[in-house]
Formats: sequence, C-alpha cells, structure tokens
Amino acid sequence: MGKLDGRVVLITGAARGQGEQEARLFAAEGARVVLGDVLDEQGAAVAEDIGGDRARYVRLDVSREEDWAAAVAVAKEAFGPVSGLVNNAGILRFNELTATPLEEFRQVIEVNQVGAFLGIKTLAPEIGAAGGGTIVNTSSYTGLTGMAYVGAYAATKAAILGLTRVAALELAARNIRVNAMCPGAVDTPMANPGLLDPAGITDEARDAMAELYKRVVPLGRVGRPEEIARLALFLTGDDSSYITGQPFVVDGGWMAGVSIL
Ligand code: NAD
Repeated sequence: MGKLDGRVVLITGAARGQGEQEARLFAAEGARVVLGDVLDEQGAAVAEDIGGDRARYVRLDVSREEDWAAAVAVAKEAFGPVSGLVNNAGILRFNELTATPLEEFRQVIEVNQVGAFLGIKTLAPEIGAAGGGTIVNTSSYTGLTGMAYVGAYAATKAAILGLTRVAALELAARNIRVNAMCPGAVDTPMANPGLLDPAGITDEARDAMAELYKRVVPLGRVGRPEEIARLALFLTGDDSSYITGQPFVVDGGWMAGVSIL
C-alpha cells in the first residue's frame, strides 16, 4: 500500500530540483503524477524515467492561464480526475530592492505568485469534483523572515502564505486542504547554480558554501530536495488529514534563532 494510492497529482516545476523529487516520491507512493514545467526536454525525461503508466510531462508555464487549462486536460485524459496539486515552480532573482528593475519585480511575481494563484484557481474545482484532496504551496524561509537582496522573491513567498490561509478557509467545505512548505536552503540549481555546471565551480567556492551552511544552519548543512519531497508527501497524504492553512518550516533549524556561542 502506497500513501498516495489512487491519487492523481499535478506538480509544477517538476523537471528538476524539489519538484522532480516530489514527482518521483509521489509515484513511488502510488500516485499518478503530471509534471509541468517549461524545461521540456528535462521534464519529459524525468516522466519517462518514472514510467508512462505513472507519469506524464506537460508544458506548463504557470503564469499562463491557458497552459493550466491544457495541463488539467492532459492529466484527466491520461489518469482521470485530479485530486492533488503541488505549486512548486518558482524563480529567484538577486538584487538590492532599490536597484530592482520593475520588469524583474513583475517577472518574479508572475511566476511565483500569479502562478500559485492560477494553480489554486484552476485546480480547486477539479479537486472538489474528485471528492476532495490537497494543495501544497511552496513558500520559503523568506516568506516568514527577511533576507537581504531577495526582495521580489521574499514578497511573493510571503504572499503565498496569505493565499494558503485564505484558500484553506474557502476550500475546506469542499474537502480540500491547503498548506505551505517553507524550505530553508535546499541543494538545487536555484540555491546552487553550480549543480548545472559542476565543472564551472571551484573547490574553494564549494568549500565556502559548505562553511556558510555549517555556520548559519544549526544542523550544519544545506537541505536535500528529497527532504522537502517528504514534507510534500506528508501534506498530500492522509497523515496530515486534520491539518490545513499552515506553513511548515523545513530548514535544518535556521529559523529557530541565533546561536551566540
Ligand atoms: P529549481 O530552480 O531547481 O526548480 C524550479 C523549477 O521551476 C525548474 O524546473 C524551473 O524550470 C521551473 N520553473 C521556472 N519558471 C517556471 C514557469 N514559469 N512555469 C513552470 N515552471 C517553471 O529550484 P528548486 O529549489 O527545486 O525550487 C522549487 C521551489 O522551492 C521554488 O518555488 C523555490 O522558490 C522554492 N524554494 C527553494 C529553496 C532553495 O533553497 N532551493 C528554498 C526555499 C524555497
């Protein structure tokens, strides 16, 4: 028995990183998964690796409403009614707030915030019609506390927590639970672009990153995408059946406070 037997779950940004691990874990737990992304080649390869009877890739730019409708159609055609969504897709831009071009600020909002909104808006009626289910939004450590040079990103991640709470209130009557994950630093191309080009990163740079995490994260290391996937599984499956509207921090203790020793 898998924890997600009989479920059909759409996961955005699933071509790599956390979304990929969520897709792999959910499929291993019995779900049929639909992977949406804008990285077509990578997304299709992950879906193929999971297996055609368990996974499909669909091009889904989360900021485009028409892409959402098409993705739902693909999911229903392939696997039947959809009962879960993981709003995982996201982008990060580093900039001092006062130096951030308006276009860049809007681009981050379009993907991270409008994308999550469209996901909830499009999928909630489907999940309700399937008899209920779950929506898991991906916020961040920066949705709960400040971090310099990621102003646009932090604004969207805080907004996702607002969306999560309101959606939980409005959708509970349709038997849809809505929660959010707040990861700290996770070892994916977003936080570690060196993963995309391992040859291009020096040993010194690698050591400096490891040293940084050792210093600021109580558990002394960066998180692994598989560890975020396990939280997504908890929030999608019945183990969290009485939980809705909440943010879940998964950050190795980073948010717990400051150590002075
Ligand atoms: P990642 O960059 O490896 O993965 C993000 C995925 O989203 C990519 O596959 C990318 O192609 C996809 N994507 C980007 N724009 C898209 C769009 N318009 N439509 C559809 N897909 C799109 O990074 P990740 O760490 O796996 O990020 C997953 C989520 O976790 C993001 O929401 C991110 O903000 C959040 N997060 C990451 C960290 C971290 O340290 N890595 C920390 C906290 C939160």
